[in-house]
Amino acid sequence: MTSAVAGSARIIDGSAVAKAIREEVKAETTALVAKGVKPGLAVVLVGEDPASAVYVRSKGKACEEAGMRSDTIRMSAATTQAELLAVVERLNHDPEIHGILVQMPLPKQIDPQAVILAINPAKDVDGFHPVNAGKLFSGDMSGFIPCTPLGVRELLLRHDIDTQGAHAVVVGRSTIVGRPMAALLLLPGKGGDATVTVCHSRTRELASHLKRANIVIAAIGRKEMITGDMLKAGAVVIDVGMNRVDDPSTKSGTRLYGDVHYPSASAVASWITPVPGGVGPMTIAMLLKNTITAAGRTVGAA
Ligand code: NDP
Repeated sequence: MTSAVAGSARIIDGSAVAKAIREEVKAETTALVAKGVKPGLAVVLVGEDPASAVYVRSKGKACEEAGMRSDTIRMSAATTQAELLAVVERLNHDPEIHGILVQMPLPKQIDPQAVILAINPAKDVDGFHPVNAGKLFSGDMSGFIPCTPLGVRELLLRHDIDTQGAHAVVVGRSTIVGRPMAALLLLPGKGGDATVTVCHSRTRELASHLKRANIVIAAIGRKEMITGDMLKAGAVVIDVGMNRVDDPSTKSGTRLYGDVHYPSASAVASWITPVPGGVGPMTIAMLLKNTITAAGRTVGAA
C-alpha cells in the first residue's frame, strides 16, 4: 500500500468501487444469460512480455468471476501481421465473442494501428478504433470508451465530485488515457462540463497550470512527478500513473508508484486516488462493463 502520511485528503478507494462494479456486471451477466446471451471476451496475447501476460491473466480471471466467457488466444512472438489479422477477422465473425482485445504492446513486425483498424468497432471494448474515438470526440456516447478514462469518470461520479464548471488539468495526451479523458470531461452533463486543459511534455510552465486546477488527472508515466506544492489547496487528484520500480525489500522485488507524490499531495488535496488501489482496478472493471454493453446490444439482433 502507498505510505499515507497524515494528510487532509479523502481517499478514493478504486478497489472498492471496482468490486461494486464487478458485482453489478455479474448480475447483468446473469440477466443476459437468461436471455440466451453469454457475454464473451477474447483477449489476444502476442509474445511473452511478462507484464502483458499478468494483465491478460487478470482480465481472464475477472471475466470468469463475473460469469462471462473468456477466451485467451496466445500467439508466438514471431507471429506475422497477416496471421494476427486473420485471428481478429475470425473473432469479428464469432457470434459468441462480443468483445475483442489485442494486448499491447505488439512485437515490432506488427503495426498496432493496422490491428486496431481491423477490429469490428462493435466489438472494440478497448475503445481504440477510430470510429469509437470519433464518436467520443463528437459527443456520441453510443461507442466504446477506453477503459482507464472511463474508470476515472466513474470514480468521479460515484464520489459525487462536481466537475461542472471545474478547471480540470489532464497531464498526458495519449490516445489511451489523456485525450479520451479530456473528451469525457468536456461532455455536457454530470461527470463533464469541465473547463479542460491538456498538458504534455512540451507544455510550458506545467506547475502554473496545475496550480489553477480544481481537478488534476495525472497520466504521465513518471514516478511522483507531481508534488503537493504544485497543487491548488482542495484539488481533486486522480493518479493514473503506474511506475514499477525495483525494490528488493518487497516480496515481488518491485514497488508500484504513481505519477503523483502521494505524501505531499494528500496533505493539500481534498480527494486523492492511491497507487495501487486507485485507478488501476477500475480499468478491468470497465472492460467487463464494456463487454456487457457489447453483448447486450446483440440481444434480439440475431
Ligand atoms: P504515454 O507514454 O503514452 O503518454 C504519456 C504522456 O505524458 C504523453 O502525452 C507525454 O507527453 C506526457 N509527458 C511525459 N513527460 C512529461 C512531462 N515531463 N511533463 C508533462 N507531460 C509529460 O503513457 P500512457 O498515457 O499510456 O500512460 C500514462 C501512465 O498511466 C503510465 O504510468 C501508465 O503505466 C499508466 N497507465 C495506467 C493504467 C491503469 O490502468 N491505471 C492504464 C494505462 C496507463 P508527449 O505526448 O509530449 O510525449
